[in-house]
Amino acid sequence: MPKSYITHFECSLTGKADYAAGQIHNLSEAGRPLLARYDLDAVKASVSKEEVWARPGGFWKWRELLPVQNEENIVSLGEIETPLTTLPRAAQHFGHGGELIVKDEGRLPTSSFKARGLGLAVSMAKELGITRIAMPTNGNAGAALAAYAAPAGIETFIFCPDDTPPINVQEAALLGAKIWRVNGYIDDCGHIVGDGIEKMGWFNVSTLKEPYRLEGKKTMAFEFAAQLGWELPDVVMFPTGGGTALIAMWKAFEEMEALGWIGPKRPKMVAVQASGCAPLVKAFDKGERFAARWDNAHTKAAGIRVPQAVGDFLVLDALRASGGMGVAIDEADIFEAQATVGALEGYMVCPEAAASFVALKKGAEEGWIAPTDRVLLINSGNGLKYDMPDTAGRLNKDEPIDFDALKT
Ligand SMILES: *Cc1c(COP(=O)(O)O)cnc(C)c1O
Repeated sequence: MPKSYITHFECSLTGKADYAAGQIHNLSEAGRPLLARYDLDAVKASVSKEEVWARPGGFWKWRELLPVQNEENIVSLGEIETPLTTLPRAAQHFGHGGELIVKDEGRLPTSSFKARGLGLAVSMAKELGITRIAMPTNGNAGAALAAYAAPAGIETFIFCPDDTPPINVQEAALLGAKIWRVNGYIDDCGHIVGDGIEKMGWFNVSTLKEPYRLEGKKTMAFEFAAQLGWELPDVVMFPTGGGTALIAMWKAFEEMEALGWIGPKRPKMVAVQASGCAPLVKAFDKGERFAARWDNAHTKAAGIRVPQAVGDFLVLDALRASGGMGVAIDEADIFEAQATVGALEGYMVCPEAAASFVALKKGAEEGWIAPTDRVLLINSGNGLKYDMPDTAGRLNKDEPIDFDALKT
């Protein structure tokens, strides 16, 4: 039976490493994210990458590199390895000469990659005896939390901005969560969660404010590394909100290299944000290590409407260490790209991921993506969870149909 090789946690800012495994943690003493550490030498000696990869599907196969100690605490909703698809027509349309691969995280339970993070966070909550969880969300994380918490018998309190995509709000409620719309942004919702900790006795699973969601998201990179024959792509583009996914991928690369699963080559990491909320891109451009809060954040790509991120410096460090970029995309371009990819490839991307196609075009034009680069773009959620333009025509069955008019 595979087991976890977790040893302890370390502060991502100061490196202080005396946070024990098997205990409830939120932020470090410095107020920054904690990173889980593993005995990678022991993992290396006990199992090969081929052996792990050959296990049955889903992200729980990476057991040695995940924090859950007791198999009985694993909450599973039938996860799969999400497929990679090459999109040559989209590559051509957006001016990229090389290969364009999309990984469809919309195929996971609750239709977004948030399932990876919340699957881990909820299983760890179960392991640590937590019975009540609270979280601020822009939608997808709330739905994933509700889903995984239900079979674990954990009560959930979810707070989202007023204009969160309605399907996500209704979905979380239908999956048993208590959910409230709040007249503010996700960080305003986060303050409500923080303020309620003592009165409500709940555990705060805000992104990066507990160390387990990051560990779940890490499996996305293990998975695409294996799917690509343990050869990382040249460029990875991710729509970046709180930045957990980007930080998690970067951590996964480090762990895989230490295990001898991959070499030292790293993809250029590209953080894609919306022009209406681009705090990380702004800090990247100004050469700063920490990002100031973005006021009046607006974009309909809800997953990336995050005005302030506690892991800002980890994202910015990874972008710089990888030779990558931060790119902000205009609202109209996001939705135009979503429609273009749909019509050209039959591939439904969420608005967040649609922004990455525009970033690809910029990269190709500006030369920071080479025509020979293999680019991996992550479709972080299912586009069906958002409002879609209603462009269908209307016909009256009781009148003669003008078929010539249908051609135009
Ligand atoms: C949460 C989310 C993101 C942003 O992910 P982070 O890890 O917070 O950067 C991107 N796309 C979708 C669809 C999301 O739900």
